[in-house]
Amino acid sequence: TREVHLVAWPKGEPRLDDFTIAERDLPDPGHGELLVRNIALSVDPYMRGKMTGVRTYTDPYELNAPMVGAAVGVVHASGDEDFPKGTVVLHQEGWREHALLTTAEVRPVNVTDSVPASAYLGVLGMPGITAYVGLVHKARMVQGDTVFVSGAAGAVGGIVGQLARLRGAERVIGSAGSAEKVAYVTGELGFDAAFNYKDGPVAEQLAAAAPNGIDVYFDNVGGEHLEAAIGVANDFARFAICGAISGYNATEAPSGPRNMGYLVTKRLGLQGFIVSDEMHLAGEFYRDVAPLVAAGKVEFRETVVDGLDNAPEAFISMLRGGNTGKMVVRLDGG
Ligand code: NDP
Repeated sequence: TREVHLVAWPKGEPRLDDFTIAERDLPDPGHGELLVRNIALSVDPYMRGKMTGVRTYTDPYELNAPMVGAAVGVVHASGDEDFPKGTVVLHQEGWREHALLTTAEVRPVNVTDSVPASAYLGVLGMPGITAYVGLVHKARMVQGDTVFVSGAAGAVGGIVGQLARLRGAERVIGSAGSAEKVAYVTGELGFDAAFNYKDGPVAEQLAAAAPNGIDVYFDNVGGEHLEAAIGVANDFARFAICGAISGYNATEAPSGPRNMGYLVTKRLGLQGFIVSDEMHLAGEFYRDVAPLVAAGKVEFRETVVDGLDNAPEAFISMLRGGNTGKMVVRLDGG
């Protein structure tokens, strides 16, 4: 079986030769173990942070070893009668064709006509919970708020905007990196306004889209976006600080936001969070959001790349904005 290894810590933007495909013998599952054939692999922004060789809130990836990451697979050989062959499971041994797992390391998922296996890597998985926790529990969004979300056409951002609309936001504003993505979030996802941050200064475009200011900012991007959001924030606005992808490939520290003094005068609430601390809210998330997905009230587009060999390319492309919605790597049978 084959798996992707990191062979060098990327400097700046990752390159294809920072990765290699390695072969390994197919193990047999022992008692209480499962051999899972992966059908969909996740590539996520946080993985860039694990490619630095430095411990942050998680351990870095080891070189010349398979990388962890979310994946959905089908039980191929089972050492536990509660997980018969064919069971579809979610687990963390992605970036490889097959994984040997204990039953404690997997969670069975329910695949239906409207909810494909890969949805558990996106809208009904870690990105979905992130969107929900950040909007509802960190930014404490309430009916009537004007909500701004960056990375609006991505896995997390697209869900944030839709949930804000369904929860009675006065106005939902998004930013994304292309005209097509802007059309997608205003057209299909129902945002009230959106702009392409590559078209001009974020501060000017955001001020035009938010004539009455913003009450909530869900930050996926950091840097110039965060500075612009502080600028247009209403007094007592709440910010969920989810990510800062504009800096993930940077080789020097960013220069902004330069207007941090407004945090005081506007009495802003800025709340950083890591979704793995918030798993006690997973049940609430599934109760609230799974019915909305099943009923088609929450859209989830995916950008699909085929084949394990193309997983590094999918990751690099995602960091560049090559995805609309969740970037997913599909393997045979997915
Ligand atoms: P996305 O699906 O949004 O994919 C990443 C997107 O980032 C790209 O499509 C690209 O879209 C955008 N991007 C890349 N470079 C820049 C840039 N310089 N400026 C603005 N946008 C850029 O990823 P996710 O939805 O999975 O993640 C979104 C954010 O949420 C990330 O910051 C991630 O780290 C964070 N996150 C945090 C978690 C937590 O626990 N705190 C958990 C999960 C995610 P475009 O074409 O619009 O530029």
